[in-house]
Amino acid sequence: MRNLNAADVLNVWEQGLNRSLLQRALMLLVTAFPEMGPDSFADLSIGTRDACLLLVRERLFGSRLVNNAVCPQCAMRIEWEQDISDILVRTPGYQTAHQFRLEIDDYHLCFRLPNSIDMFELEGSSNAAVALQRLLRRCILSVEYAGAFCDIEQLPESVIQALNLRIEELDPQAEVRINLTCPECSHRWEVFFDIASFLWAEINEWAERMLQTVHKLARTYGWTEREILNLSPVRRQLYLGMIGP
Ligand SMILES: [Zn+2]
Repeated sequence: MRNLNAADVLNVWEQGLNRSLLQRALMLLVTAFPEMGPDSFADLSIGTRDACLLLVRERLFGSRLVNNAVCPQCAMRIEWEQDISDILVRTPGYQTAHQFRLEIDDYHLCFRLPNSIDMFELEGSSNAAVALQRLLRRCILSVEYAGAFCDIEQLPESVIQALNLRIEELDPQAEVRINLTCPECSHRWEVFFDIASFLWAEINEWAERMLQTVHKLARTYGWTEREILNLSPVRRQLYLGMIGP
């Protein structure tokens, strides 16, 4: 993993403008982990991929995560904070070549964990429940019932649900839940935290601020964009301060 400089992040942001969130996340990872090769991230389990994204976020913007949520009971907007170390799960780092087994009610399943290619295939699906069913069936490599071949489409709902739970256990980083308590009405609930959308929103804000900084410094000092991006963040900020509002 390497440190991304301002020019790297701006390039990824620009290239990602007309891409899906999934493609943006993969582009960011390929840039941050050049040693991994361009195709390897698509093959990582979702949780392993998201753990890598958390590491990228830590290097870029630090380890404190600050986010908003709206209380479903009283509609109050609350701010929550977490440290990346609190939500980073130390899993073995699964690639989807890993195969797992599940035995339930005489069904013997061989399966793999969902990866970004699965998500890519299911993008745009409007029905979340149907998409989850399709995702789970995609991850089944083979299935036998009482020792004989069984059609995946014929699997009972209880087996599919058991598979879903097993996948969640094996790849907990894929679904990060944050427990919240409303300070106004004491209602307790949990929210899902998606590092890909969170980080991209941060990069988007950062890029807009950075372009304004480049614009101001270039106009004042006549420096090129490259020269300005090569300055340390501290120096950029100091020069900005000298220009004034
Ligand atoms: Zn509330």
